[in-house]
Amino acid sequence: MISTRMQNLHPYVPGEQPKDRVYIKLNANENPYAPSPKVLDAVVDFVKNNPMKLALYPDPDSLELHRAIADMLNKTGGVLCNAVTEGNEVTAAKGDEIPFKVTPEMIYSGNGSDEVLSFVFYAFFGSDKKLVLPEFTYSFYPVYAGFYNITTDIVPMKKDWSLDTEEMLLRSRKNGSGLIFANPNAPSGIALSRNQIRAMLEKADPDQIFVVDEAYCDFGGESCIPLLKEFKNLLIVRTFSKSLCGAGMRLGYIVASPEIVNYVTTVKNSLNHFPIDAVAQVAGIAACENPAYYCECARKVRDERESFQAFLKEKGWEFIPSKTNFVLARNPKMPGEQVYQNIKKEGILVRHFGTKGIEDYVRITIGTKEQMDALKAAIDKI
Ligand SMILES: *Cc1c(COP(=O)(O)O)cnc(C)c1O
Repeated sequence: MISTRMQNLHPYVPGEQPKDRVYIKLNANENPYAPSPKVLDAVVDFVKNNPMKLALYPDPDSLELHRAIADMLNKTGGVLCNAVTEGNEVTAAKGDEIPFKVTPEMIYSGNGSDEVLSFVFYAFFGSDKKLVLPEFTYSFYPVYAGFYNITTDIVPMKKDWSLDTEEMLLRSRKNGSGLIFANPNAPSGIALSRNQIRAMLEKADPDQIFVVDEAYCDFGGESCIPLLKEFKNLLIVRTFSKSLCGAGMRLGYIVASPEIVNYVTTVKNSLNHFPIDAVAQVAGIAACENPAYYCECARKVRDERESFQAFLKEKGWEFIPSKTNFVLARNPKMPGEQVYQNIKKEGILVRHFGTKGIEDYVRITIGTKEQMDALKAAIDKI
């Protein structure tokens, strides 16, 4: 009954969401904090006072949302944990300032950055030239490549788990194709500096797309947004799911040149004209209008991460110092699968990947202080 295309699908396997008991969830890099109370107020007000807005189609272009996203980026510089807050006022930290105004025309938004990424794959990569990606990065990239019949050229990591940027550039030039990676990368948590990415862009083919997924940038990376005016082939993907406490809202976006935004909009308008529902648009706008709250959340996560890494060090665990809201760590005396099982027995879920090369590790999302205290106790026990 099913098509050949269907037979060849290899779907992404998400972090488990068990229903059998209540676990402390440190397995999907969600934010442990609720959205800003102002977001909750905006949503309640919207559904109570605008019932017809649920009966009618939402704005297909999400214009207000794009304005709000652009404003937030201009204010924060795209790194929430560093941004300077004074009451509700937020300004970009020194070094994070964007030297031009991000405009709404430079924003495209979709139903989570997963959907946004799928449209990027459709628009810019193909079967005729091999897409370059790192061996360990967001595991949805190869899934989309399979879905769209895109051939890939996978570049091994360096020994220290960082990206082999030289090799990636070499292959992208050889293949005449674009490239994609996450920065900070997952599941390593390692970040390239903006200057390192600038150096890559200077060597890359300006006619090929250069995609940087900044899902975790707000927790301590350096954003590439300031490079957008110089490099028209740069496409930055970001999400509300991690630093904006909104994984359940399903909002992700692109920051890029208006030309790139138009290409992705064409893909959207050829598939689903209304990817962001009216309530998510309202929630997203309210989140962007209250960045100070999220700066605070990002700082709490960052501080908890540093304290957890100090704990791991003290316990003799190995880990890769992280710039994100997760840490890839291993107990040198115990296989990763067993670490995962033992922690699960204590009522805490972390992520274990069976993938060869990282099977000794678990990826631990940084939670609240209380959650991390429970995890530390569980680690002490095993
Ligand atoms: C979580 C994550 C995403 C997906 O985010 P959604 O907006 O929830 O779809 C994309 N890229 C990376 C690197 C991520 O870690």
